[in-house]
Formats: sequence, structure tokens, C-alpha cells
Amino acid sequence: MDFHIERAKVLPKSNLAKFLEGLKNLSTLIAPVKKGDKFIFSEIEKVSDVAVNYTRTILPPKKFLVPYRRERFSYSTDTLQFNKEFKVRDQIIFGVHSCDLHGISILDSVYLKENPDPRYLEIRKRTVLIGISCMPDEFCFCLSTGTAFPDGANWDLFLTDIGADYFVTIGSPKGDEIVLKLRKLFKDIEKKDLYLYKESTSKKKKAFKLEKLPDLERISQLIELEYDSEVWKEGSERCLGCGTCTNVCPTCFCYTSVDVPTLDGKKVKRIEFTTSCQYPYYSLVAGGHYFKPDRASRFKHRYYHKFVGYPYQIEKLGCVGCGRCSAECPAGISIVETINRLRGIDEKELREATEQASSR
Ligand code: SF4
Ligand code: SF4
Repeated sequence: MDFHIERAKVLPKSNLAKFLEGLKNLSTLIAPVKKGDKFIFSEIEKVSDVAVNYTRTILPPKKFLVPYRRERFSYSTDTLQFNKEFKVRDQIIFGVHSCDLHGISILDSVYLKENPDPRYLEIRKRTVLIGISCMPDEFCFCLSTGTAFPDGANWDLFLTDIGADYFVTIGSPKGDEIVLKLRKLFKDIEKKDLYLYKESTSKKKKAFKLEKLPDLERISQLIELEYDSEVWKEGSERCLGCGTCTNVCPTCFCYTSVDVPTLDGKKVKRIEFTTSCQYPYYSLVAGGHYFKPDRASRFKHRYYHKFVGYPYQIEKLGCVGCGRCSAECPAGISIVETINRLRGIDEKELREATEQASSR
């Protein structure tokens, strides 16, 4: 049954700690915490550790849905009996930004649309997603990807900052149940809350910091048309092939596997782990054929998959504009800059022109 948001409540900020405590009593609580000068999603011991006003986490919450390393199954070499059992726990992931909720919606399409992955399905069923509003920094471009706001498809509660309170929208029966269990912490919405909620949308839209948000209109065609562009070659000359960009991406899902035998060779575990299309040997196949032997073709492949492959396969862009790949790239390569250069917009010239204009 499709569920549409019909109701909302108000959570006073003064009740946030009690709300988090309540969530922790219901299930394993995962939320953003500060680590050095960055943020990570982590299991919560003390609710005072939860960082509500974070920019972005190094890794997306995807790591609690599709672990970076996991055992797929094991088998006995004597009997050839397979053990495909897996353990899944209940979990609440609190504080997910809108872009990451959209990222999870893309993972849902990948893992659940055709040939559903039973483990992912079970994890998703037992996971509650609680989103929170955020403000963009200099890497965010979710306004271009259409993911700046939650669309009501795959989350349970969403908290929007409206000053002294959070405006809490209820997105599913699971969200409803939580509000019911912790009802003493909530207030009914008043007209002013609805006004502040609407105002928060325009506030966020005006807060984007990039000089030129990428224009993603007809991006699939543009990338196909620019197949031979120098932009790929130039980007690849700076790229180190380290795979950081794909490892931090909320929508990347490529993995590889290896069979690990016990010392006596009687039992074998199949271990799956995340890999990257940016690694040199990613596209090497049996027989020695190498699909992407040069860095430029691997560099281009990431953009192709995000902006041509995903729309073709799941009718959505494979990028949610979170900015992680640009923020974490050790070579300083920016996805926005690459797209703008394909469009014929030079970021450096644009920056210089903007600085000159503001110093006049
Ligand atoms: S993070 Fe940067 S340097 Fe590393 S593979 Fe990606 S684009 Fe290349
Ligand atoms: S490609 Fe980059 S900006 Fe887009 S979703 Fe992945 S990490 Fe975020």
C-alpha cells in the first residue's frame, strides 16, 4: 500500500535528548557523531554524542544497510552443503540528510526491484529511517539533482528545523508508531509552525554556496555527446585511481568477492567487499581481456554510470548531489567542476570573475 504523509507533529528542541533516549530504548540507535573535524554515522552509546547540526558524514549511512565487507555464505568442501543463514538486527538510523535518503531510495531500486536481495530486504524491513533537515556547504548540489528535500517514499520520520522546534513529518506506519510511543514529547502543529516549515524550504534553496550549481538538464545526452571530450583526459591526468570517490558515494554498489578457505580446506567462506570502478584491475576479466585499461576511460566510466547508466536502468540519476566525492578526493577533483566544464563553463574563470566583481 502506498503511504502518503498526512500528518505532522512538533518536537520542541528541548525534548530532543529525551526523544533520542526514547529511540535508544526502542532499538539499536545509529546517528552522526563528531570524529576529529569530521562526522561519521556510528552506533550510539550516549545520546549526548549525537551531532544534529553536521554538514556531511565521511561515509553515508549505506554502511549499515550494505556493509563494506560481509560474508555472503559458507560451504563445506566435503559435503558441498551451503550455509546461507544471516543475522539481521532492528536498527534506527537517526539524522539522515535528504540526499542520503534519496541515496537509499536508489539502493532500494538496485537491490529490490528485480531479483530482490533477501538480506538487503530483511535489513530494510528492520530499519527505521529518521531524516533531518540540513543547510548546504560549498560542496552540496542536491538542488540540481532534485534531492534537496525528502520525497516521502522511503523514510519513516523527518525532522525539519523551524527554530525552537522541529517540524516532524510522519512518512510511514513505523514512524507513526514511534510518535505514538513517545507522544508525550510532541505537540500538535499550529498555523505558525506550518508557516515556518514552508519558509524553511525557501531558506535552504537560497543557501547554496557553489558559484554555479550544475545544470543537469539532459545530462545523459550531454555526456554521450561529449564521449571524446578532453575533459575526461584532463581529469584522469589528475586522478590517482584511489577509489575514494566511489567508496564514499551513497549510491555506488559495486562489489567483488573472494573465497577464503580454512587452514584444513574443509570449509570455505565467500566474502563480499566493496570495490571501485576506479581501480586499475576492476575491468580485467577471465582470459586477460581488459575493458578499461587506461585511466581516462575509468574516469569517464564513473560519470557515465551515474548520469547515463542509472537513468537507463532505474529512471533516476545515480548522483544525489551530496558532494562527498568532491570533498574527499585527494586530488581535489570536483564532480561539479567536471560537469560544468562539459557544459563549457570554466569554474576557475567563473570564480575569478565572481571574486573580481565582489571586490569592486
Ligand atoms: S577520489 Fe579523486 S583521485 Fe581518487 S579515484 Fe576518485 S577522482 Fe580519482
Ligand atoms: S557521485 Fe559524488 S556527489 Fe554524487 S552522490 Fe556520489 S559521492 Fe555524492
